[in-house]
Amino acid sequence: MPELPEVETTRCGIEPYLLGQTITGVTVRQPRLRWEVPDSIQSLVGQTVQQLTRRGKYILLHTPAGVALIHLGMSGSLRIVDATMLPRKHDHFDLLLASGNIVRYHDPRRFGALLWTADPVQQHLLLRELGPEPLEAGFDGDYLFTQSRSRTVNVKAFIMNAHIVVGVGNIYACEALFLAGIDPRRVAGRISRERYLKLANSIREILTYAIERGGTTLRDFVREDGSPGYFQLELKVYGRADEPCRVCQTPIRHLTQGQRSTWFCPVCQH
Ligand SMILES: [Zn+2]
Repeated sequence: MPELPEVETTRCGIEPYLLGQTITGVTVRQPRLRWEVPDSIQSLVGQTVQQLTRRGKYILLHTPAGVALIHLGMSGSLRIVDATMLPRKHDHFDLLLASGNIVRYHDPRRFGALLWTADPVQQHLLLRELGPEPLEAGFDGDYLFTQSRSRTVNVKAFIMNAHIVVGVGNIYACEALFLAGIDPRRVAGRISRERYLKLANSIREILTYAIERGGTTLRDFVREDGSPGYFQLELKVYGRADEPCRVCQTPIRHLTQGQRSTWFCPVCQH
């Protein structure tokens, strides 16, 4: 599933092809995505792309008339193709550019989205209640500490809550907690400020690393078949049940928390 680093990698990958370009057409082959693609998406036609930004896992395509919101869902990907390339199965929509390129959306499971708003996009129903971006100002240990007071959920569920902070998917939550030495079962409201400082730094570190690794596959991603820039992380705990901890050799433990798998080292994390 595309997480924040994959979405950011995608955004960076398509940005040079989109900035300053005029959209000459929008072809929707399958409007039934997670939400139906609105007819108003045709407002994009004739518009020039001023900016391509990201909020959480939404890619925002800014034009003078409004903003298109793109979400990759569970299995979506965007690629730049030549106008002569025929669509494949599951290629649900195209944005045609004056350059002759097409931004083509592929999504076998159809949990993604293409939406349009002419209103201030940060007030959009899907964006307005999102927590801060983990790599921007406003997110730090003090923020996590303050938000966590009197919360009785476990710390892993707490940092995966998009109202608290966006973009910390399961893999990054497990890895960040390991890096910070925090047991994922701990109650969020009972963790010290000092430990939250470490956790915020760990979250930033792991996401930055993942984005940088995604960046290294960018050329291939744009040039060839456009499959998303999934990177192989050097994972410390995620998916490593019963394998030795890379720090202390203790077998990594697996458990289920709120229907999500968690992996952690019972010695390094407490
Ligand atoms: Zn360990």
